[in-house]
Formats: sequence, structure tokens, C-alpha cells
Amino acid sequence: MEQNGNVYIQDLKSKDAGYGKPIKVNNTLYYIKLKMPSMLDHVQIWLIKDFDKWVLVDTGLNRHEHKEVVSEIIDNFCGGKLSKVIVTHFHVDHIGLAGWICEKYNVELNITEAEWLTAMVSFLDIKSNFFNEYLDLLKHLGIRESDIILLKNSFKWYNIYPLPRKIKVVQEGEHLEINGENWKSIICQGHSPAQLCLFNQNQNLLICGDHLMSHLVPVLGFLIYKPETDLLGGYLRSFEKLQFLNANTLVLPAHGDPFFDPINRMQELSLIFNDELNSLLKRLNTPQTLGELVAYECPDRTNPFRLRFYIEKYLALTNYLIKNKQVRKISQENTHLFQKV
Ligand SMILES: [Zn+2]
Repeated sequence: MEQNGNVYIQDLKSKDAGYGKPIKVNNTLYYIKLKMPSMLDHVQIWLIKDFDKWVLVDTGLNRHEHKEVVSEIIDNFCGGKLSKVIVTHFHVDHIGLAGWICEKYNVELNITEAEWLTAMVSFLDIKSNFFNEYLDLLKHLGIRESDIILLKNSFKWYNIYPLPRKIKVVQEGEHLEINGENWKSIICQGHSPAQLCLFNQNQNLLICGDHLMSHLVPVLGFLIYKPETDLLGGYLRSFEKLQFLNANTLVLPAHGDPFFDPINRMQELSLIFNDELNSLLKRLNTPQTLGELVAYECPDRTNPFRLRFYIEKYLALTNYLIKNKQVRKISQENTHLFQKV
């Protein structure tokens, strides 16, 4: 069996690892794989032993099936004893059930302030008319009318159980004590505003939500109130904070296989984005709208989530290039065009 200290990789990477039951990483750390009905077919959430209780990191979707699986495991495997819930970021597969679990087991939600606020705003937005602003923005970016209609429903995805109004705010660099060990908080930008990663130095383990994954490139999802933010710059800068990791660090992501050597993965991701930026720059010798850039790479217009992925990708790339003064935005008759400087 491949081993790193007391971490049993074979158990963790087993292809037939079952959904909906605790899977052992080591004596104090387990994960639960939950099935998802979306482009990503699963999410992993984590259980860390905390003396005679357990800490739950991330929670699954606000859906009956996930409620059943997660509460059954907390009741039977954890003896109904949680000491806290930690959430990495505001996306529904991570925070969906946080409010419900905190209420049911009477524990505090630990989260960064920006993720909690973004979740609260997104939750309120679902009940409001904000989609019109979203749709206006897409129109200015040159997204076709038919695509906007396709996208409309995909923006109503934010279904979470109402969150607690009182939380424990996790700060950058804070040490969360669990089972007598320190888990250092590292707050990373890009995929979401202030995603919480947790590093255990004793065990050389990093729980990182969606920040680093073995094969997936994270979505850099823009927020309607700040669509011009340089998310890619924030994402790449966050790698600097993680340079203290090493080849033996085991990374535990929310999607896909756990993997070693985050330094190598960050280099791969930097190269991927670098290639993307270079090929985009070449295309922007001729001014183009974001809609034209997306149409070139995403001819399939049947899946709104795929389409949205490309919109978010090109928005992140163009914002990065504008911030670095390599591209300028030209506004013509209410439509924005991007051109190489
Ligand atoms: Zn996410």
C-alpha cells in the first residue's frame, strides 16, 4: 500500500470508493463522496476527529438526498456529536446544507466573512429581479439573444438552506485547533472571493475546496456587482501564499482525486493560463466582443453551464489583460469590444 506517514492513499484513491459512506484517509480524517446531478458528478466533504466530537468541512447540496446521507453519517458514525462546521466557500455544493446542519446539531458555522456575505447576497438575489442586470451585462458583452435565453435559468441555481445570522469568522493565518492539532487558514481568491484552505503541518495535508484540483481548472466565477474584477490575477497571486507546501503535501480537493505535489500542479495551472492569455492576445489583434470570443470556442449552444463556463473564462482572461494594460476595452453603441493595445 502506498503510504505517506499515516495517510492511506490506496483507500483514498480507490475507484470503487462508495458514495455516501465515510472513507478513511487516516485515523482522524475521513471523507464522504456525495453524488451530484450536474456537470461535476460528485463533491467530497470532510470529517475531522476532534477528541470525542467531529468537525465537518463543507456540507453538500440543499437537497433531500444529501440531507439524508450527511445526517445519517453524523448520527451513526459521529455519534451525533459535531464540534463545528467549517465551510470553504459560498458555492451551493459546499455551503448548501450548512445552515441546516448548524441548526440540527447546534454548532457554529466557521467561514470567512466574504464567503458568508456573498452567500447571503446570492441567496437574496434569487428572490429579486437582479437577473435583469445580469442579462443587461451579457448584452453589453455581445452575448447573443438566444444564448441569453438559454442562460437565464442557469442563474437561478443558488439554492441553499438559510444560513445562521451569527457565525465564527475565520481570519487569514488563524490556527483552528482541532483534536489538539493546528489547521492554519489560508484565504485564496479567484474561484470565489475568499476561499478558505486549511493546512495541517503535522500531517502535511491541505483541504482546499475548489482552489486546486488534480485535473480540473477551477472556474473563475465573476460576481454581478464587480464584473470587472481581475479574478485570474487574484487566483495566480494566491499561489504565492502556497509556495511553502512541498512535493509530499497531500491535497484534498472537493472534486476529483486527492493528489500530491501542489507546487507542480500550480506550475501546470500557471502554464495553462499563460497559454490561454497568449492565444487570446493574438486573437485580439482584431477587436472582438466577449460574445464572439465565446462563440469561437463553444459552438455547442445546448448546455447553459458550459456556455456560462466560457463566458466566465473569457471575462477573467480579458479582465486580467486589461489590468495589465495589454488589452483595452472599446465601447461602441452600448457594446464592449476588446482589442490588443
Ligand atoms: Zn466552488
